[in-house]
Amino acid sequence: MKAKDIAELLDEPACEHNKKEKSGCAKPKPGATDGGCAFDGAQIALLPIADVAHIVHGPIACAGSSWDNRGTRSSGPTLYRIGMTTDLTEQDVIMGRGEKRLFHAIKQAIEEYQPPAVFVYNTCVPALMGDDVDAVCKAAGDRWGVPVVPIDAAGFYGTKNLGNRIAGDAMVRYVVGTREPDPVPVEAAARGVPVYDVNLVGEYNIAGEFWYVLPLLEELGIRVLCTLSGDARFREVQTMHRARVNMMVCSKAMINVARQLQERFGTPWFEGSFYGITDTSQALRDFARVIGDADLIARTEALITREETRIRAELEPWRARLAGKRVLLYTGGVKSWSVVSALQDLGMKVVATGTKKSTEEDKARIRELMGDDVKMLDEGSPRALLQTVHDYRADILIAGGRNMYTALKARIPFLDINQEREFGYAGYQGMLELVRQLALTLESPIWEAVRRPAPWDCRPQAERLDTCPAAASSANSALPTPLPAAVASSSRMAS
Ligand code: SF4
Repeated sequence: MKAKDIAELLDEPACEHNKKEKSGCAKPKPGATDGGCAFDGAQIALLPIADVAHIVHGPIACAGSSWDNRGTRSSGPTLYRIGMTTDLTEQDVIMGRGEKRLFHAIKQAIEEYQPPAVFVYNTCVPALMGDDVDAVCKAAGDRWGVPVVPIDAAGFYGTKNLGNRIAGDAMVRYVVGTREPDPVPVEAAARGVPVYDVNLVGEYNIAGEFWYVLPLLEELGIRVLCTLSGDARFREVQTMHRARVNMMVCSKAMINVARQLQERFGTPWFEGSFYGITDTSQALRDFARVIGDADLIARTEALITREETRIRAELEPWRARLAGKRVLLYTGGVKSWSVVSALQDLGMKVVATGTKKSTEEDKARIRELMGDDVKMLDEGSPRALLQTVHDYRADILIAGGRNMYTALKARIPFLDINQEREFGYAGYQGMLELVRQLALTLESPIWEAVRRPAPWDCRPQAERLDTCPAAASSANSALPTPLPAAVASSSRMAS
């Protein structure tokens, strides 16, 4: 990829924070790939397309670093779960065999699995060697009659966010518009309501959570042509140009896709979230509003009333168990506010939220929801997190998987909210799962057990309170372990 192309992707006109420092449009800096390189971002964005053969052209470590690290689910094909790589070695570099190996890898993937398409991800080593990946993909596609799509996202091009955009750009450039959608299914047409086609961009079906939302859309007569990319098929991506409206789900990572589809095919788009009752209802309303059918708007309001009444009744017994609990939320981007609204729906108090990956707009939404004096955490080190838990008397840390051991070592209840999680929290039904997981986490008997000093640590009770620091501190402190010890221990672990 030329420097000019990278610069164009970084300069995203649809992003209102394009010129600001905390946007996904920031220029790459040394060390910027810490937390995910451009290749990582590209593969994460497209791997959920379930029936495609995804080949990583590079050393095997690249494939290992990003394969299957998002808990996305497929309702059918599982080809995406087979890790494929050209496994380049020093010998291949010295002998200049990269292109040949790639050609044979594509041949093997097509002959063994008969996929509808092959995606080839370029990585640092072949990009530095100068492999002409585009030409190999074209030759292989012509030879076997299967679309072979180059995703030129070598890690050193920039950040994970840039990789998301490269992936989206490749879809619009090579795939979208190459097929027409299937006819409306007979049973949908027979219901007598018009069917409107839509796309969801940036919906990854983590832990199958989109399946909580899909039945609602189907009931309204909204057909999802494609989710880019959760539980998607290649043939669905090909038809994205025919949607009436696109929704950017929870993330601006692929905002270039929404913008390009608007420019090329005139498809309007809006940004929304399916986390929390309020946001789910708003997303449904936005679909109806942008489509502009008065009957659809009325049916959407009726569905929202029915679903909100149902879910609020089902949440009631849980609400009493969770109301007033204090939460430290440390997650990225849009989730920093969309999950706040979901927790507030449950009567919980979010005492602080992470804003490391948030844009100015995300921060404005946080202030709107939580007031001006909200604690925003720009730093997510173990020390900073534990200090905030201590200072703000948080009952639970809700964060990404990488913070799990920080919380567990300090004996603080922890709930995973990021992409590695096992449970889906989207839509009305997802709220019920969220509330169940929160209650299970907070009320687990493990906390009481691990906060008790180990029997072999201390002498009998009478002597213990005088001389045993563990017993004395656990008796006196709200936190199970004296904070400095936990902080020091987690900091050591992190370093
Ligand atoms: S693409 Fe480059 S930065 Fe990314 S994992 Fe491979 S070698 Fe590392």
